[in-house]
Amino acid sequence: PYSRALEIHKKHLSPVETAYFQKPLLLHQGHMEWLFDSEGNRYLDFFSGIVTVSVGHCHPKVTAVAQTQMDRLWHTSSVFFHPQMHEYAEKLSALLPEPLKVIFLVNSGSEANDLAMMMARAYSNHTDIISFRGAYHGCSPYTLGLTNVGTFKVKLPSGMGCRSTMCPDVFRGPWGGSYCRDSPVQTVRKCSCAPGPNGQGRRVECHFWIAADCCQAKEQYIEQFKETLNTSVAKSIAGFFAEPIQGVNGIVQYPKEFLKEAFALVRERGGVCIADEVQTGFGRLGSHFWGFQTHDVLPDIVTMAKGIGNGFPMAAVVTTPEIAKSLANCLHHFNTFGGSPLACAIGSAVLEVIKEDNLQKNSQEVGTYMLLKFAELRDEFDIVGDVRGKGLMIGIEMVQDKMSRQPLPKTEVNQIHEDCKDMGLLLGRGGIFSQTFRIAPPMCITKLEVDFAFEVFRSALTQHME
Ligand code: PMP
Repeated sequence: PYSRALEIHKKHLSPVETAYFQKPLLLHQGHMEWLFDSEGNRYLDFFSGIVTVSVGHCHPKVTAVAQTQMDRLWHTSSVFFHPQMHEYAEKLSALLPEPLKVIFLVNSGSEANDLAMMMARAYSNHTDIISFRGAYHGCSPYTLGLTNVGTFKVKLPSGMGCRSTMCPDVFRGPWGGSYCRDSPVQTVRKCSCAPGPNGQGRRVECHFWIAADCCQAKEQYIEQFKETLNTSVAKSIAGFFAEPIQGVNGIVQYPKEFLKEAFALVRERGGVCIADEVQTGFGRLGSHFWGFQTHDVLPDIVTMAKGIGNGFPMAAVVTTPEIAKSLANCLHHFNTFGGSPLACAIGSAVLEVIKEDNLQKNSQEVGTYMLLKFAELRDEFDIVGDVRGKGLMIGIEMVQDKMSRQPLPKTEVNQIHEDCKDMGLLLGRGGIFSQTFRIAPPMCITKLEVDFAFEVFRSALTQHME
């Protein structure tokens, strides 16, 4: 059955999506933080289906709620009201500070960020959007312009979009924080643009900033950020997107206070600030429920997906009544599946479980334990360049050696990744060179399981050095 599955996959499924492993896994079952393959082997899931299974695979309470709701009502579309939507809206908005109280329910992170981009333009009546180098905000044609992780480049025939990406008016702010020395990627490129609020496109230049060093101080970041705002063509700033911690880019953190100052600079120029909480929200960072709270900032728009539904496709944009109204004045927005009774019932159950099972506190405790434990590997192995992160969002950056700070070649990282899998541990990957292992288990993980993961990872590294 395994080779038959691979054959079907190759024949009928899009080659655009590549499998994680040389010998891909065929997964059959999941229970909380564990996954089981077709032969009954078990794997500790340290990546949660890309940071999505927040409370545990097939969590009994969430599953029971979904089953009950399935017997009652699945779908109405957003033109009809239903109690699950109202219950969910109250629960979710209670978790956000004033004035972030108006919710748009959609189905994926990309959709949420698309919508946030339109809101920013509608509200500010400006066109230009700023995102960071190394950002990941989605894969839809619109959000691909915001995304800047090396592997997500688009090369379409000319006339079908920009040469390197289908890019709205996006400018790059400074970027850094990675341990590896950055390679000089593109410096400037031209792109044609998606329509602004009045439907017109613009032709602009997008600047890519070259990170001078991983250890830049906040002041340097701010200087670069100001330069983006003042000297680039980003004169008419509609919005600024930031992940509170960059996920796909390999757990990249900003210097303390940096986001606070960046938000102020954007607002001075009439733009709105958008926190992309797709990976960082719902208690994953431990100390706070939302990532933006760890920076002590208040965004104008918050986008969320992944962990919101524990694997059920749902997402949301939360904003202020004023911004919500400006979008309503500008366009008629509609989403067939967004906020279905099933999604809302599941969303409510997820929020209840996070509270009842004390999962935010667990993220904090187990995350701190894990960070300290895995950091020991930095001293033991020269190829472990950096171990960083917060709560249950941790990155281990692999290098050739600490002296050169060059990324460990992909084939070698692949081998360590594969070896961990064969020993029962599933890790994520990230970074421009795919050199960083990403750890983001379901939030029900225990310290005992962290010990198991540590031993597996450590033996994979030892094996690699032999
Ligand atoms: N924003 C962030 C920070 C993400 O990590 C992702 C997905 N990796 C997205 C947006 C896009 O979400 P989706 O894949 O649900 O469209």
